[in-house]
Amino acid sequence: MEFVDLKRQYDEYKDEIMAEIQNVLDTTAFINGPALQELEAQLAGHTGVRHAIGCSSGTDALILGMMALGIQRGDEVILPDFSFIATAETVALMAATPVFVDIRPDTYNIDPAAVRAAITDKTVGIIPVSLYGQVADMDEINAIAREHGLWVMEDAAQSYGATYKGSRSGALSKIGTTSFFPAKPLGGYGDGGAVFTDDDELAGRMRMILNHGQRRRYDHAVIGLNARLDTLQAAILKVKLRHFDDEVVRRQQVADWYTAEFTGTQGIVTPVILDHNTSVWAQYTIRVANRPAVQAVLQERGIPTAVHYPIPLHRQDAFADHAQHGVEVPHTEKASAEVLSLPMHPFMTAEDVILVADAVKEAVRG
Ligand SMILES: *Cc1c(COP(=O)(O)O)cnc(C)c1O
Repeated sequence: MEFVDLKRQYDEYKDEIMAEIQNVLDTTAFINGPALQELEAQLAGHTGVRHAIGCSSGTDALILGMMALGIQRGDEVILPDFSFIATAETVALMAATPVFVDIRPDTYNIDPAAVRAAITDKTVGIIPVSLYGQVADMDEINAIAREHGLWVMEDAAQSYGATYKGSRSGALSKIGTTSFFPAKPLGGYGDGGAVFTDDDELAGRMRMILNHGQRRRYDHAVIGLNARLDTLQAAILKVKLRHFDDEVVRRQQVADWYTAEFTGTQGIVTPVILDHNTSVWAQYTIRVANRPAVQAVLQERGIPTAVHYPIPLHRQDAFADHAQHGVEVPHTEKASAEVLSLPMHPFMTAEDVILVADAVKEAVRG
């Protein structure tokens, strides 16, 4: 069994993907080719924003956003302690300070009360992460930001396509960022990402920054990056986007099957999706008290699992010199010790799910 079955997906869309790739090769428009503009228009329409801009990764999307927002050395940015390293390392790369705060124990997303408590006179922004495919509490976070004059940039690397009160992830803050890493819900065949915004000026700045700060050819207005999305990746993503909404329906079905299997089983906590949210199920993540034993049993049966994430960001060696290395985040600590992600992709069958669920239930019983 695969954790994410990319081969099966490729087999399904192979003819369409090969045709798109062939088209790029035939035109040799490898940088800024027509497929990129087409993808950007489709992403903007799908997300419901004025501007969707392709870039080289979800990590570079975060950097682009912060550079466009004018982040300065020593600025503080509040973010959840329970996320992938990119959310925090990009802030540190900007010579700014990531301020790690705790999460809600039910959704694993940043706790708005913890955000409020962490604001200082150096705070400039908040990066909520929409973890596992479910959007964070954007109304509360945007309200806090408005009160204190801060920007909000949603890290939607795991939540492209998810909805919050009827609006799409990525369209819920000043800037939204996402990733097209192959295993993400909308994945390419290599690295890629995008930024989203309704703000024309920010969009213009991000477009300039991702192309060496170039205004016109060899006329560089600001210090920038090479952070463009390859036309080949855009061409592949166009095909994936065509099938994306159907895939999300299938992911929801898989999640429902899992939850039905686990409901009523002692020792297993299933994911909580808030009523105003729809998830794209980047992960199906449960909690178990005896995680190492459960993982061992599943591994024996050839069922892959993963832990997103085993070490809170503030305790990573990379942040050993960080003033917050010993910050208290009880919900993050508990989640890091208990969460377990199970195989999840749109091509799983009910039989696959039952196989995994039975193994988990047996392992939890001990
Ligand atoms: C995957 C991910 C990123 C980084 O995306 P890349 O495309 O791999 O650079 C950032 N934040 C979160 C929450 C992620 O899951």
